[in-house]
Amino acid sequence: MPTQHTEPQVAQYNYNEEEEKKLILREYRALLRSLKESIKKGDKTLLRRAFEISVEAHRDMRRKSGEPYILHPLAVARIVVEEIGLGVTSAICALLHDTVEDTEITLEDIERDFNVQIAKIIDGLTKISNVVDIKADTTIQAENFRKILLTLADDPRVILIKMADRLHNMRTLDSMSREKQLKISSETTYIYSPLAHRLGLYEIKSELEDLAMKYTQPEMYAEIMQGLKETKRERTRYINEFIRPIKEELINNGFDFEIYGRPKAINSIWNKMRKKHVTFDEVYDLFAIRIILKSPPEREKEDCWKVYSIITNFYRPSPDRLRDWISVPKGNGYEALHTTVMGNAGRWVEVQIRTERMNEIAEKGLAAHWKYKDGAPAQESKLDSFLHHLRDMLNNPDTDTIDFIQDFKLDLFTEEIYIYTPKGDMRVLPKGATALDFAFDIHTQLGRRCIGAKVNYKLVPLSHPLNSGDQVEVITSSKQNPSEDWLGFLITAKAKSSVKTYLKEDKRKIAEDGKDALRRKLDHMKVPLSQHNVNELIHYFKKQSPLDLYYAIAVGALDLKELKNFVVHGDKLQHIAKEVKLDIKQSQEEDHGKQKPGKAAELIIFGERSDRVLYKLAQCCQPIPGDDVFGFVTSGEGLKVHRTDCPNAAQLLANYGHRIVKTKWAKNKEISFLAGVGITGHDDIGVIQKITNVISGELKLNMRSLSIESNDGIFEGKIMIYIHDREELNEFCNRLSQLDGITKVERLESSE
Ligand code: MN
Repeated sequence: MPTQHTEPQVAQYNYNEEEEKKLILREYRALLRSLKESIKKGDKTLLRRAFEISVEAHRDMRRKSGEPYILHPLAVARIVVEEIGLGVTSAICALLHDTVEDTEITLEDIERDFNVQIAKIIDGLTKISNVVDIKADTTIQAENFRKILLTLADDPRVILIKMADRLHNMRTLDSMSREKQLKISSETTYIYSPLAHRLGLYEIKSELEDLAMKYTQPEMYAEIMQGLKETKRERTRYINEFIRPIKEELINNGFDFEIYGRPKAINSIWNKMRKKHVTFDEVYDLFAIRIILKSPPEREKEDCWKVYSIITNFYRPSPDRLRDWISVPKGNGYEALHTTVMGNAGRWVEVQIRTERMNEIAEKGLAAHWKYKDGAPAQESKLDSFLHHLRDMLNNPDTDTIDFIQDFKLDLFTEEIYIYTPKGDMRVLPKGATALDFAFDIHTQLGRRCIGAKVNYKLVPLSHPLNSGDQVEVITSSKQNPSEDWLGFLITAKAKSSVKTYLKEDKRKIAEDGKDALRRKLDHMKVPLSQHNVNELIHYFKKQSPLDLYYAIAVGALDLKELKNFVVHGDKLQHIAKEVKLDIKQSQEEDHGKQKPGKAAELIIFGERSDRVLYKLAQCCQPIPGDDVFGFVTSGEGLKVHRTDCPNAAQLLANYGHRIVKTKWAKNKEISFLAGVGITGHDDIGVIQKITNVISGELKLNMRSLSIESNDGIFEGKIMIYIHDREELNEFCNRLSQLDGITKVERLESSE
């Protein structure tokens, strides 16, 4: 089993030179051992050379923890070989991965000392190495993600080595500053773990997610860890009891197998708690049972189903939770049979059945059977067609990068459905895909001209969501053109980006008229349509780009009469009111209009200026003092404060690192903040009375609203309350949960 959730290995580093040398050599030998089977003599020489060059190049560098830097490339190389299953070429590249970026060594050196292929991979790694650049602006970061994806399409080894690099950095994140920890963790959840998922690297994906959670939500992480620890005994007993009869029967049937129960990843337990609004104790599937068979290729399928049949002789299966990824593997190559059965004491238990070969794919992803696994024969896989599709999208110059990344990410995680063409060919689409998505999936032109479809011979509209097994015939018309509202129901990145491209072209044509109108107006004012003047106007009218500005003018959404608010200096436009400073006091009241008026010192903001800054609390997570928070500089509304566990945090931190401001709460008990608390219970007689007693009688809090809906003796309520800090909120929740009739109390993420 993988070593998840281990403590950092190097807490304090103090070795002398001799010990250090030994340590480095030991790591290198371990790498050699893990390569043993596949390594040829010539390769060994190359590997040794890579090791020596890397040691020499990084000689004077140390990691934040104090260790010699070379231990990092060595660790990355071991992950590449041991956990991803790549061969010696990849190990060599891993050893050299930081040399061109951080040392004197050039790509030409690498090409001369090794070969073109290795130099190309190092080049790819160097190009994407500066993604973690906090100062970079949005477009640069999005461009970097695009680069990651491009290199993925180019030579998948680049991204696999990068994945190992990221994994090792996450495993050793403890020695970094808090700010870096947050930034790197968010980027990990934002792009690396979805990619790991798409590539079928399940083990790495869940470790990355757990590690990221450890830094972004340390309290919840610790709580779940603790919960798992406390329930371990009971769980082990249950698992053993569950397994016993199956094990016997499998042996009787002559199977060679391994069977065990393993706890689910911390992050996936947390997702369950969050999605289903349950506490740790209420998550019933904290573990899954796994059976791994030794079975020859020709008998795999039959054997897995035989095992299924044996299990269901003992335990009753839930019919709607059978997943057969053996007959039709997932798009990322995953193969297995999953079933959920009713175990002892009325508990549902998930059982996963796979063979050793399938298990290797599940752990190492398709990389395990990669055509680049040195020496293995070339093989066209599902991953290849995914990469092919990716390449198509990325090579389209009209694709808007930030948009694309967003849509692409959505594609990465969703479940898949299988749709058939009229001729019986199968296409794999994400769950929720519509008839129109299907049309675009077949061909862009088919999508753009689509007016409807026949699903299983029945006529349906474009927006019709498809189900697995549907047979779909697309109906087109040469008069049809894509429209804005299509974006409302399309779900695949390919279709969306094609529609957006079309709309943009269309918008560009219309915007030309607006540009002409503006030019005439400026001529009249005797100023040119220069970049400076256009920027002034974009800023004033709060538009995103010149295109938006021209378009708004063309469609009359923006009145050119407002240009009277500008004065002309030479050939430059200047806004009259530009020098007026914001009245801090006034805006403060606006910002906290619904809250008690108070001083502006609840929050200290560190940055270039240490004076008090205007800020707003984000609606999406409603932070209160005591929460772990960060500030985000918005374009129109000043600074917004979010919780680090806000559902939007990962996206903001990963994409807009340069706009993040470190923030911390000051001690101030005078100001209160709005927080929402949800309650559930039964028997609501007098419950409102009891709640208001706690609020105004015992704790002397201020309530904004209380709503209760009751249905057949069960009630659900929402309380919006002014609170000073997290401690007070916890106290409040505790008091509520002690009331008779109330079964659950939880903090709400937002007021909606
Ligand atoms: Mn590195």
